[in-house]
Amino acid sequence: MEHGDSAEARLRTLTTYFREHPEAGRPERRATSTTPKAPLNLPVLSHIQDSVAEVIAFTEAANPEARKTRPATLEGVYGWCREHLSYADGTVPLVVRTLEIRHYLEHTILAGDATTAIRPIWCPACETPGLLWRSSIHRAVCINRHCARRNDGIHRTWTTEQLARREAIFETTLRECAT
Ligand SMILES: [Zn+2]
Repeated sequence: MEHGDSAEARLRTLTTYFREHPEAGRPERRATSTTPKAPLNLPVLSHIQDSVAEVIAFTEAANPEARKTRPATLEGVYGWCREHLSYADGTVPLVVRTLEIRHYLEHTILAGDATTAIRPIWCPACETPGLLWRSSIHRAVCINRHCARRNDGIHRTWTTEQLARREAIFETTLRECAT
């Protein structure tokens, strides 16, 4: 994830897109003007609603005090979640970070930018870059042949949750090494 890029920023892109194109299909890089009356953009709308509801439910379950200060904007849920949970004990901060990275990946993929989201992440098994997003199975595939050979010849595939968890653990390890 590049500096300045985040789940907040990507959710803002999706909500802006939805407000500007409520009638369009899924966001595409090039607008297709040939579709006469495209259906309401329900996949994007339900994705936005589900993501925000998930962050709120998770935050309030872990810290019921958070309910008193629910954020005013949709994308504000991430900062609000961090504010209430980042300093919690045990594995909560890691779970928060995993959720945030997973949402970043999912928002970015839904906006049609899977390459930006997936490319920088290394395969959790072979620790090499080269993951490709396959929208048909909604998973990233490791194209490394040695990795597949060690997996009975089958290319390993990863969910956004698995990749987000690997990234969150990697960040935590880097921070611990730096202190
Ligand atoms: Zn691999």
